[in-house]
Amino acid sequence: MADIVLDQVSKKYPDGTVAVRDVDLTIADGEFVILVGPSGCGKSTTLNMIAGLEDISSGELRIGGERVNDKAPRDRDIAMVFQSYALYPNMTVRENMAFPLKLAKLDKATIDEKVTEAAKVLELTALLDRRPANLSGGQRQRVAMGRAIVRSPKAFLMDEPLSNLDAKLRVQMRTVVSRLQKRLGTTTVYVTHDQTEAMTLGDRVVIMRAGAVQQVGEPQNLYDHP
Ligand code: ADP
Ligand code: ADP
Repeated sequence: MADIVLDQVSKKYPDGTVAVRDVDLTIADGEFVILVGPSGCGKSTTLNMIAGLEDISSGELRIGGERVNDKAPRDRDIAMVFQSYALYPNMTVRENMAFPLKLAKLDKATIDEKVTEAAKVLELTALLDRRPANLSGGQRQRVAMGRAIVRSPKAFLMDEPLSNLDAKLRVQMRTVVSRLQKRLGTTTVYVTHDQTEAMTLGDRVVIMRAGAVQQVGEPQNLYDHP
């Protein structure tokens, strides 16, 4: 686990678009922060810079006190989940979730233990032997989350993870995501354009607009002073 610090971070794409401008943001160890704002305001770019999927044009990014501007994504020890879940179709739920742990060469007993625990929190225990084709969208997204978090990353990043789900499932999944984050206590950054999601999920909400941070606060305070 680790804190995440953005110190005057900006992103200018090669075509000249300034997607993120001078963002200062400190996310505490274990905190659950939501980035919210209209399409194009720089949420995904911000998240991708934290993950290392986009270079930072200027400023400094620190994870757990260490400058990571030039660190490759795989060396940042960060897990990420997107709106489309890329599960391995020929593997069962159990095998999908165990895969990152096998790559990390953990022993079988430890892998079983971690997968069992993740499945319990995500309510996937009864589905462990199914393949992705035989799961609903919400179930698949839970498997994707399970696969992301089994190796206990320093931070957990989610980009609109519920936006492909129907409205009812989205509401159910909010509870699952909150519970998962509380249980893990992993520093989490969650991107959404859905205001309700932003106000109900996290410890703190960061409202972005035109590449800048417009407002930061706890959900109830933002709600009182929009
Ligand atoms: P989002 O759901 O985050 O709004 P978009 O549909 O805007 O995503 O973007 C999808 C992909 O297209 C992303 O990989 C993004 O980096 C890229 N993209 C978005 N806008 C541009 C642009 N103006 N020029 C080039 N690529 C872009
Ligand atoms: P959001 O996630 O809030 O929808 P993005 O971070 O995807 O916003 O995009 C922020 C801005 O950067 C938008 O104007 C978008 O068009 C632009 N953008 C995103 N990706 C690229 C890219 N690869 N090249 C050029 N511009 C991009």
